[in-house]
Amino acid sequence: MKKTDKSMFFLDPKDMPTKWYNVLPDLPKPLPPDLHPGTGKPVTPDDLKKLFPMALITQEFSPERYIEIPDEVRTAYQLWRPTVLHRAYRLEKALDTPAKIYYKYEGTSPAGSHKPNTAIAQAYYNKAEGIKRISTETGAGQWGCSLAFAGALFGIEIKVYMVAVSYKQKPYRRIMMEAWGAKCVPSPSPDTKTGRDMLAKDPNYPGSLGFAISEAVEDAASREDTHYSLGSVLNHVLLHQTIIGEEARLQMEMAGFYPDTIIGCVGGGSNFAGMFLPFIRDKISGKRKNTRIICAEPESCPSLTKGLYAYDFGDVAGLTPLLKMYTLGHDFTPPPVHAGGLRYHGMAPIVSHLYDLGLIEAKAVPQIATFQAGIQFARTEGILSAPETMHAIRVTIDEALKCRESGEAKTILLCHSGHGHVDMAAYEAYLSGKLEDYAYPAEKVKEALATLPKIPA
Ligand SMILES: *Cc1c(COP(=O)(O)O)cnc(C)c1O
Repeated sequence: MKKTDKSMFFLDPKDMPTKWYNVLPDLPKPLPPDLHPGTGKPVTPDDLKKLFPMALITQEFSPERYIEIPDEVRTAYQLWRPTVLHRAYRLEKALDTPAKIYYKYEGTSPAGSHKPNTAIAQAYYNKAEGIKRISTETGAGQWGCSLAFAGALFGIEIKVYMVAVSYKQKPYRRIMMEAWGAKCVPSPSPDTKTGRDMLAKDPNYPGSLGFAISEAVEDAASREDTHYSLGSVLNHVLLHQTIIGEEARLQMEMAGFYPDTIIGCVGGGSNFAGMFLPFIRDKISGKRKNTRIICAEPESCPSLTKGLYAYDFGDVAGLTPLLKMYTLGHDFTPPPVHAGGLRYHGMAPIVSHLYDLGLIEAKAVPQIATFQAGIQFARTEGILSAPETMHAIRVTIDEALKCRESGEAKTILLCHSGHGHVDMAAYEAYLSGKLEDYAYPAEKVKEALATLPKIPA
């Protein structure tokens, strides 16, 4: 490789990868199948037909290593892709580290994160199969915005169930969704039976991602013209995100280095898997055995570092298939002090499996140190990062500081998942000293064990 000292690496749109990378055929052991909650048997494509278009169901189980990105999707990607790979010279200097830090910035999409990479693909395949309407859930609103944007491009009506506490406290992303033409309601909502039952039981229930998923799934299952869409966790979502890592491979080659360490934040696992899967095939094949892949998660929602690897539901009501994943229990509600996103109770089955196999690592980081890292990044590299992304920045800085100690000039590749322009309330809480640290207690993980579903024999 030819080494260069440039600070930005651009790919020409005509050199944008034409295929997504599917890790399933390359896994050293097969992925444990999703199970039908009623029968305990592996889920079949037929079981999913009510909720997803056939193209996505095929991708979910596909044995093909590469999957062609449709022209319409590539054209839509070109509104902001290929994204730039940066060398963080200023941050390196501030840390006085010999490490070389590269970051791929996904915040230039219209919604401000990596999420449109899959929203566009999902809207496209639904449209191609004649679907008129898609229901989904959203937490702070990033996924709802991304699907609303994709719905606008492909002429599909979008209905978003937004976790009630965020709906009240964070109006701006709701307004963005409405500007793109989506309908957004607080969850629990009176629009579904699940929502109505909860409102009757507890009108002040603040909602959770798992609960909003139940409402969105019920909505889609009850209408012929409607499908459901999920913004993370599932195999096909991770597949679409591999555009990030496929581009990054070409750009690291332009930079003249192969990463020693790859770092990203994990909520459901999609942005980081999108980055690391195209690299992990070199690790699995033995060509790059020593590459470290580190998942950064919050101490207050530590599914990989403290969760259980077990079959669990993806939602609160138990409407989804059972997924084998690291989980904090499907009725997990994040502590109210937590401001940094990444709140989902589970982790993508692919990420969970790779973690279980010891091919990737995980670090849980406390909230205040996370924001400190985000602020240092803003004051050196300029970008006001999403609080989610700051978890990965924290781990990146820690690894770079270890290089200062050891004198090693390692190459670190950071997946920068998005900007934080709509998260100024969290920035303010940090800057005015109102944030607290909260490590999720081990007893709570034990309690969650009791709620894990029994698998029918
Ligand atoms: C949604 C989101 C995440 C977490 O989701 P993953 O599926 O783990 O990628 C991380 N960063 C940003 C900016 C997000 O919007």
